Amino acid sequence: MFHRSRRNLAYWYTLSMGGVLTLFATIGYGLTVNEQLDRFDQTLLKQTQILTGQLSRSNQSPSMTPNPQFAYVRLYDARRRRLQASDQSSPLRLEDTIGWRTITSPASVLRQLTIPLKNGARIVGYLQVAVPLDSLQKSLDQARLFLSIGLPVTLGVIGVIGWTLAGIALQPTRHAYDRLQRFTADASHELRTPVAGILSQAQVALMPPEDIQEMRSRLTQIVMIAQSMGSLIDQLLFLSRQDGKLDPATLNAIDFAALVQSLIEEYTPQAIEKHLQLTSHIREATLWLKADPNLLRQAIVNLITNALKYTPAGGMIELRLFVQSNHAVFEIQDTGIGIPAADLFHVFERFYRVDTARTRQTGGFGLGLAIAKQIIEAHQGQIRVISEVDRGSTFRIELPLKPSSRFTSDISLS
Ligand code: ADP
Repeated sequence: MFHRSRRNLAYWYTLSMGGVLTLFATIGYGLTVNEQLDRFDQTLLKQTQILTGQLSRSNQSPSMTPNPQFAYVRLYDARRRRLQASDQSSPLRLEDTIGWRTITSPASVLRQLTIPLKNGARIVGYLQVAVPLDSLQKSLDQARLFLSIGLPVTLGVIGVIGWTLAGIALQPTRHAYDRLQRFTADASHELRTPVAGILSQAQVALMPPEDIQEMRSRLTQIVMIAQSMGSLIDQLLFLSRQDGKLDPATLNAIDFAALVQSLIEEYTPQAIEKHLQLTSHIREATLWLKADPNLLRQAIVNLITNALKYTPAGGMIELRLFVQSNHAVFEIQDTGIGIPAADLFHVFERFYRVDTARTRQTGGFGLGLAIAKQIIEAHQGQIRVISEVDRGSTFRIELPLKPSSRFTSDISLS
């Protein structure tokens, strides 16, 4: 598909540029021919006038005025009858009209000029001269040769440039298309599993003998799977909607310290329920950022829920918030199962799960970190992770600060 688009782009580029080039070359050639012929004619006119002057002064016949420049010189009387001619093949009567004419014969091409000879206002005769067009013909031949070689070569070069430019222009589209295709394939794959689950549960529930208890249990399973599918669809929609830069209209000045604080309060009951110790060190009383509060909240929630998911009972989760080099730094450290070094580079990719079996148990689709990364990068920030298997992980977010006053305080919750 991209090969075809590239070929089409290159083809139309070459055709349009080639068309413009050919048009200019043709106009240029036409103008050159006209200009050179005009110059040639003016020279011929001057030579003829000189000859006329000589004739009237010395009363010499043209044949007595050998001039190697002329192919022939012919003199006619006022009634157009031939008087003198330097060539044998001259007609007895002058049939040509006054002015210039190009005479083409197999042997040569001549430019002929016929002028009237006057005595005051009265025409006393006609002088006709001709010169070979060889020199002009030669230079035009050279121009035609140059064009006939130069044009195809230039068209070839334009074609190569068009092909290269089309390749460069289509590169981002190609990458976006590849990403979209991979994303669609992954999303379809993820949706196929729960759909199969719903189908099999429903089929079993409908099988006779119909046991109400069994049916209830199956329907409960279906509800759970459908809820999980709903969550996956929400995440997919989120990823597709929030792609790219944020609309500045959605950005507000928000207090990041207050946001983190409220999330700690929200998730402390879950931590207690899972026998985890949740502590925090928020050095700044207020920390102002320009951000979309809902998105930023979503990113932090994804990191907190991961820490809660992947830290076994008895573990610790610590949240830190501080300022470093004009950036707000948020860190979340857990003493959980950790991430193998080989997976660290990939955990922010869409649908990437370190251990599919393990994450399916926890209900993850491998989208949480991709969403967090997308949100943070849309805010011109960065997200990183360091982790060690069985020792825990630390996720770090850096976001540019909005200039504002800062107060220092240390809060510790457990
Ligand atoms: P999921 O929704 O499946 O958890 P994420 O994108 O949030 O997907 O995480 C991607 C992978 O990174 C998960 O498969 C999980 O194994 C790993 N991971 C994320 N956070 C942590 C953590 N705090 N500790 C250990 N592993 C984690």
